[in-house]
Amino acid sequence: MTVQQRFDREGENVMRKKRAAARSLVGACLAIFLAVAAGFDAACAAPQAHRGADGGGAKVTHPRVAAPQASATDPTPKLKKSDRDWRKLLTVQQFNIMRKAGTEPAFQNRYWDFHGDGLFVCAGCGLELFDAKTKFESGTGWPSFWQPISANRVAEKTDNTYGMVRVEVLCARCDAHLGHVFNDGPRPTGLRYCMNSASMTFVERAAADAAKAADKTADGGAAGAGAN
Ligand SMILES: [Zn+2]
Repeated sequence: MTVQQRFDREGENVMRKKRAAARSLVGACLAIFLAVAAGFDAACAAPQAHRGADGGGAKVTHPRVAAPQASATDPTPKLKKSDRDWRKLLTVQQFNIMRKAGTEPAFQNRYWDFHGDGLFVCAGCGLELFDAKTKFESGTGWPSFWQPISANRVAEKTDNTYGMVRVEVLCARCDAHLGHVFNDGPRPTGLRYCMNSASMTFVERAAADAAKAADKTADGGAAGAGAN
């Protein structure tokens, strides 16, 4: 079996498990809808039903930490920082969302209606999280994706806040809060990764490809040193 086939199979298994977990949340979806209608700040829960406070114009920072990309199958190495250090790297809004599981307002965030072609990377550590090719219009007012770049780029955790059971999605590398995943997404996965724009930075595909090429050159630098 090739590495690609192994990855594909692993991805299918992961997605199957996620779908099963998500199915158990059907009841929670109704609770989420009601909670949002009641004014709770529950991100991603109810398309068109949520209007947050003004949060537009927030400064979006670019990753300041070099981010070696884990392979598709290996566990992603962790990056740990103190809250004090994260505060230095992130805006106040980013810190509150990424380190304190906060939420940005729907329809008033950077990427909900953004259609660039490239990759969305973690705003904290630069790990590549989502490909723009998997972004879709969810109607929620938050950027939504049907799949992460690979299963090991995001971690999931049960979230019991607001009296609901949801599945929280975190960066697998720095444990930043990204958003939640639901089971009402489009094909082929049926999943909806509902993300906070503030937790991500967009990188144009050409720039992402160039960075990968540079990494490969660096890896092969010793072997190719004699060529010039
Ligand atoms: Zn991260």
